[in-house]
Amino acid sequence: MLIVFIGPPGSGKGTQSKRLLEHLQIPHLSTGDLLREAKAANSSLGRLAAQYMDQGRLVPDPLVLALVGEKLREPKFKRGVMFDGFPRTLQQARALDESLAQRGTPLDMVLELRADENELTTRMLRRASQEGRTDDNPQTIAHRMEVYRQQTAPLLDYYRFKGMLTPIDAMGSPDEVFERIKAAVARRQPA
Ligand code: ADP
Repeated sequence: MLIVFIGPPGSGKGTQSKRLLEHLQIPHLSTGDLLREAKAANSSLGRLAAQYMDQGRLVPDPLVLALVGEKLREPKFKRGVMFDGFPRTLQQARALDESLAQRGTPLDMVLELRADENELTTRMLRRASQEGRTDDNPQTIAHRMEVYRQQTAPLLDYYRFKGMLTPIDAMGSPDEVFERIKAAVARRQPA
């Protein structure tokens, strides 16, 4: 099973994809987490990535693709992948399609978490005080929303055209949203 999670910043991609991975027993691959790990390890890649992340800009495609390409070679991802925060640009989506075609394992579904921007901004500011993410400040959050609209939203059309997009209403409690996700996945899975 190969599933992609797409949604604006603060829409709960991380939380929901981690819940779904427990439910389906599919390994999780979050580019945000990988990049934050690289940053914390202070590797040269991490230092470079931090310059973009801390401003709410996307890390350049070649860097992200190299990171994901390396990660996907790990044997655990043979069983399936739950992509969280990747792909985020058309170039990343096309590169992913190509590498999955080579593996002979196409994507099964793309879940789009939909939510109101004002509500998301409130959620993220609350999270900022809890988690201390350096990219969760009002200015950076506004920029990440803008980047989502301009660079990531076009992916929705790309996947809709392929008949793979499943929109999920991401407003409501994490439990309510997770129930909607489980129902959508169940509809898609062969009996
Ligand atoms: P959120 O969606 O809440 O902003 P993420 O953890 O998915 O959180 O991403 C945090 C930051 O990491 C992004 O703002 C961006 O700078 C970087 N990032 C994560 N995934 C990607 C990606 N696929 N391509 C480019 N940059 C990425």
